[in-house]
Formats: sequence, structure tokens, C-alpha cells
Amino acid sequence: MIQYLSDCEGASLQDYPVCIVGSGPGGISLAVALARKGQRVLLVDGGDWSESQTDDDAYQGSAHAPHPATTEYRRQRFGGTTHLWGGRCVPLDPVDFARRPHVPLSGWPISHEEYAAFLPEAMQYCDAGAADFSPASLAGGNGPMFSELPALARDLTEYIERYSLPTDFAAKFAEELKASDRVKVLLRARCTRLVVSTDGARIESVVLHDGQRETQVRAGQIVLAGGAIEATRLLLCTRENVPAWQRFDASLGRYYACHFDLIFGQLRLKDERPRFSFQKTQDGIYARRKLQFTPELQNRLGLLNSTLRLHFPPYADPDHGSGVLSAIYLAKSVLPTEHQDILNHGSQDAIRDPRRLAHLRNVIVDAGSVFGFAYDMVVKRKLAKRKLPYTLIPNRNGTYPLEFNSEQVCDADNRISLLDATDRYGMRRVDVKWRLTAQDIESGIQSFLSMQSLLETTRNCRLDFDIGELREQVSRALPVGGHHIGSTRMGLSAQDSVVDTDCRLHGVENLLVLSSSVFPTNGHANPTLSIVALALRMAEHLRA
Ligand SMILES: Cc1cc2nc3c(=O)[nH]c(=O)nc-3n(C[C@H](O)[C@H](O)[C@H](O)COP(=O)(O)OP(=O)(O)OC[C@H]3O[C@@H](n4cnc5c(N)ncnc54)[C@H](O)[C@@H]3O)c2cc1C
Repeated sequence: MIQYLSDCEGASLQDYPVCIVGSGPGGISLAVALARKGQRVLLVDGGDWSESQTDDDAYQGSAHAPHPATTEYRRQRFGGTTHLWGGRCVPLDPVDFARRPHVPLSGWPISHEEYAAFLPEAMQYCDAGAADFSPASLAGGNGPMFSELPALARDLTEYIERYSLPTDFAAKFAEELKASDRVKVLLRARCTRLVVSTDGARIESVVLHDGQRETQVRAGQIVLAGGAIEATRLLLCTRENVPAWQRFDASLGRYYACHFDLIFGQLRLKDERPRFSFQKTQDGIYARRKLQFTPELQNRLGLLNSTLRLHFPPYADPDHGSGVLSAIYLAKSVLPTEHQDILNHGSQDAIRDPRRLAHLRNVIVDAGSVFGFAYDMVVKRKLAKRKLPYTLIPNRNGTYPLEFNSEQVCDADNRISLLDATDRYGMRRVDVKWRLTAQDIESGIQSFLSMQSLLETTRNCRLDFDIGELREQVSRALPVGGHHIGSTRMGLSAQDSVVDTDCRLHGVENLLVLSSSVFPTNGHANPTLSIVALALRMAEHLRA
């Protein structure tokens, strides 16, 4: 059943065994999994079926550049940010779970096997096919990305990333949730407070606000699944009134991390074209190839875990000569801000770019490709249920910029904290501080240098870049919007973490966090698949 809080009697909402706050992919997956196991669940979300202007107020806060504004890269509506996500499904790697001497605070308190056991089902929730990320699962043409790659296998491995439809979790699960007599979904039900017992060991009730009035709800177990920043904010606001929660001060809100991303250098192949475009897997899923340094090389050189993909030339530079890239570039003004940012690659001042005429010339001269592309866009993106994830146009000159996406080390000074200013519900707003650490920058530099020297051992392939620019470029790498990680980290005790291996707050019997905020380290994997895997794991534990 799906209702508005304002239409419900408070008495009808009491004593559910589980109350989940937040209906993004985490919250919905947990609710669905529990209901399928016979559990009764109350799932509440501050948003509605779609967003309204007033929703923006609750997410307003301050973020220090280059971190995006707190209103960007997250959505308040049934289904959460899956209304906007790109659908890239990538698992965390075994190396992410390992204790690595060169990575501070590394090592998850659960094993990779324990997490990976939930990946096959999580992939089904995400509509991304089998949990097989090897190029061997591609349909046809599943040779290496380029012919000499196997010779580098000791240091460099090829994987694939699989793509969701991309699935809007609200659209996928709404009918099942509506029909379920076990789940009640409440929309326009913003959780503004947690009422905690005086010893801090139990949540007595959850305070929900419908914009006009408050309702207090008691539940057996409460799961915060409002996204990493909101889950952290709710805990920080609660901490203000609970002296016993002082034990969380060393970790709560701290160790906030985002992956960082940089497009740099030119990979060049002499006598061949690499496998660059999207391919389908044998089970019909769009997939892309990526490269990764082996754990042995990472450990030997002290590198953070990262991934490298061949990229298309910067849209903003009309010298690429592609009518398609120019057409996309010119059309960007109709896209949401988060997608416009991606197209700004190569020109921060793109909108005022005087080279617009050169882009127009590309479109006219290359009109045939533009029509072919437009047809593909209508057929493969607009009309298709499983959408082509995005456009990959190779550079005419046969070079490929390298897209580098990396883990960031845990740094206590990267943190989410509270401002004095409050939102319209009286909740204090957040302040987000994020920067690259010296180790992040060194690892980025060494990764490019390592890639260059590995390719120097081949006959056909090389990586060119201006060595004088490398440090500057890596230092200016940007956080990947929407990957909010680490601010309620998982660990073995409250001395170094907020939640335990079940994602339950240390010493609080009925409060759990389901979010990428619990990841103790962040790997390079986009977070949603892992959030869903943790939701399915939590469903097992909560049922037990
Ligand atoms: C442009 C973009 C592209 C992305 N692409 C990818 C990708 O390709 N692959 C990938 O893995 N990830 C991607 N992401 C990230 C992905 O969207 C997030 O990882 C994911 O949505 C997080 O899920 P969540 O359930 O934790 O939170 P969210 O999806 O943010 O959902 C949280 C929900 O909780 C509700 N809520 C929050 N606070 C409260 C409260 N106090 N009371 C009640 N309700 C509350 C909100 O209204 C919202 O509906 C992308 C994000 C963006 C913005």
C-alpha cells in the first residue's frame, strides 16, 4: 500500500517490526526483500512521486568547492536518486576488503565473500544480468580490448562494467509495494528526529513530518536509508541531544569520501582500433570494458584502487570534427545540471564558448552521422526499455583520452557537519568539506606514470601526456557527484566507527544504517549495486 502520511491515522502506523527511512534503491530493496520473506515493513520517504520546489529546501546546505552543491546529485522522491542515475553496476573488489599496509584505515570487518554472496540477487534488482564482470561474458567479439593486453596481465586486468536499464526503483517496484499487504509506503513523510532513550541504547520513536504536523511512530528496528548525507545528518542532529552518543564523535560525519575522476593523456594504438564501444553481454546487458591495476601491482607501488577507461574526445573542443559530439554539446542546455557537468569536460566555460560556430560547422559537414546518431537515440535510448547508456564516439585521429577513476583514502578532515541554520522542518543544515588528500594525488600521479611505463613495453600502444601538467591535472581532479561514502563507517567498535558488521549503531539495539556511508573504504566501484547487496544482506539479518 502506498499512501501520504497526512492521510493516515497515527495509530495505524505503530509497531511495525521494521521502519525504513528513505525509499531510494537501498530502502526499496530492503523493503521488497523483507516483504518477500513475510516481514511487515513501514517504508517512509520525505518526497512524493515527483519532486517539487519546496523539497529543495531540505537539501540546502553548504559544500566547499569543488564538491557539488548539496542540492545536486541526489533526489527526494519515491525511488530516490535512481530517477537520475546512470545505471552503471560495478562490484567492489576483493582488494577493497583487504587490510592494505599503504592504505590508512583499510580492511572491512566483513569479508568480500560475505558481500559477494548477495551480488547475483542485487544484479537482478538492478536489472543488470549476471554477476559476471569478465570480458568472457560478452557476446561475440570478446577478445581483449587491444591485442597486446594479455601480455600485460601480470599488472593490468580487463573487466567489464554492466549497465542497468537504468532502473528507476520506484517504477520497478511500485506495483509490488502497492499490492503488498505487508508493506506500507508513506510519502511526504520526512523523518525529522529520532527520540532516543536516556541511556542512548534504544530509539523510542521516529518523528515524521508531513509539512503541517508531526507524527511519532514506534517500530522494532529502524533503518536509516535516506542516502549518505541525510542519514549522517539525522544521526548528527540526534547526537546533539544524546550525551551517551559522544562515543561516535571520532567517526560520525568524518571520513567522508567521494571517488575522484580525471580525464587526461592520449592513448594511441599504432596498427589497430581498440574495442571501445558498448557491447552486449551474453545475457543481453549493455557493458563497457575497463582496465585495472592488479592487486599485486597496487600493493607493490602503493597505489589506491582505481579504474581506467578509454574516453571520447572532449565535446567542447570542435577540433574533434565529429558532428555528433558537436550536436550533443550544443544540445546540453536542455539537460539537468548533473548531466551538463559531464559535458563540460574539456571546457569549464563551455556555455560562453566562442567556438560554437565551429561546432555548428561540424554538425553540417557531418550531417550523415548526426542523422544516424539521432535515429539511434530515438530507437536505442528513447523507445528502448534497456537504454544505450551514453554515446561513445572515437576520436578521428585514433587517440583516446584516458578516464581515471579512483578510490580516495579515508581522511578525518573530510567531513559532514551541521550548520546553525535550519530547514523548514527545524533540522540543522549540513556543511560538506571535501578535498583530495596528498596521498590521493600521489597515487593518481603514480597511476598515470605506471600506465605509461606498462604501455612502453608494448610494440603498438603508448600513452602520451605532458609530464609537466600531470601533477596540476591530478590535483584538480573532481569528486564524482552522487558517490557519497564513509561518514558512518563500519567497524568493530565505537572507537573507530559508527556501525557494526550488521550496519547497526554500536550500542544501539534498534538503529541501523543502510547506505554507502557505511563503506569503510570506497574502492572505485559506483556505489548503488553494493548498497543493494548490503540491503539484501540486511534483510537476511533482520529476519533472523
Ligand atoms: C547523475 C547521477 C548518476 C549516477 N550514476 C550512478 C551509476 O551509474 N551507478 C551507481 O552505482 N550510482 C550512480 N549514482 C549514485 C546513485 O544514485 C546513488 O548511489 C543511490 O541513489 C544511493 O541510494 P540510496 O538509497 O542510498 O539514496 P537515495 O537514492 O539518495 O535515496 C534516498 C531517499 O531517502 C529520502 N530521504 C532522505 N532523507 C529522508 C528523511 N529524513 N526522511 C524521509 N525520507 C528521506 C529521499 O527523499 C530519497 O528518496 C548516480 C547519481 C547521480 C546523481
